[in-house]
Amino acid sequence: MFNQLFRERSRRFTLQQPFPCEVVRQQRKTLGLYVKHHQVEVRVPLRVSQRDIEAFVTLNRQWIKDRLKAEAEHNRLKLRIEHGAKILYRARELSIEFRNHRKERVLVEDKKFIIQGYQLTPARARLIVERHLLAKAKSYIVPRATGLAKHLGLEDKLSDIRFRKTKTKWGHCTSKGVLQYNWLIMLAPYSVIDYMITHEVCHLKYMDHSQRFWSLVESVCPDSHRFRSWLKENEHRLYY
Ligand SMILES: [Zn+2]
Repeated sequence: MFNQLFRERSRRFTLQQPFPCEVVRQQRKTLGLYVKHHQVEVRVPLRVSQRDIEAFVTLNRQWIKDRLKAEAEHNRLKLRIEHGAKILYRARELSIEFRNHRKERVLVEDKKFIIQGYQLTPARARLIVERHLLAKAKSYIVPRATGLAKHLGLEDKLSDIRFRKTKTKWGHCTSKGVLQYNWLIMLAPYSVIDYMITHEVCHLKYMDHSQRFWSLVESVCPDSHRFRSWLKENEHRLYY
């Protein structure tokens, strides 16, 4: 019922600014700006005049332009597993090289991230990188997470450690004590990986992001905010 009412009263139209700007009228008290997927959306209360909306957008024009630019830059830097592309590996920018070889593997030499394989296609190269990072994640993260859980007296709560590539998360801890890590984290510096290991292990004790949770994280991994901000700034470059 509410939803139906809501839909009937909300209206959409497009403003002609230097960029297309969708206006959505809805039940809300303030005007809000959203930039996503190169689209600008203004959400406004039902009774705001078009002139006020135009003024609001004009006032925030620079902010919108900056956001659109930042988004384009994110897209440009997004990881592509292709010969000649750049990859941010352990905080260093390397060039991806496809190398023809019978044996499939990944090598890091100087400033090169070499993907070896026979007559490589980008799809095959992505698989080889996946296999490589997954193996690295298993051998690096499992002993550390297990050891830390033991050290903190939480080994009884840890039931399993799993790996999967998710779209938005680096790690996850379920109420059943399953720790889950995104194997793409193996592209990050070791300090950041260690922080992620710590973060999820500490959730075995506190399932929230409360003060006591962060104190426990800090007791194992001081200055964790540095690693969190590194991830925030760079994570869009680690996904493919
Ligand atoms: Zn968390």
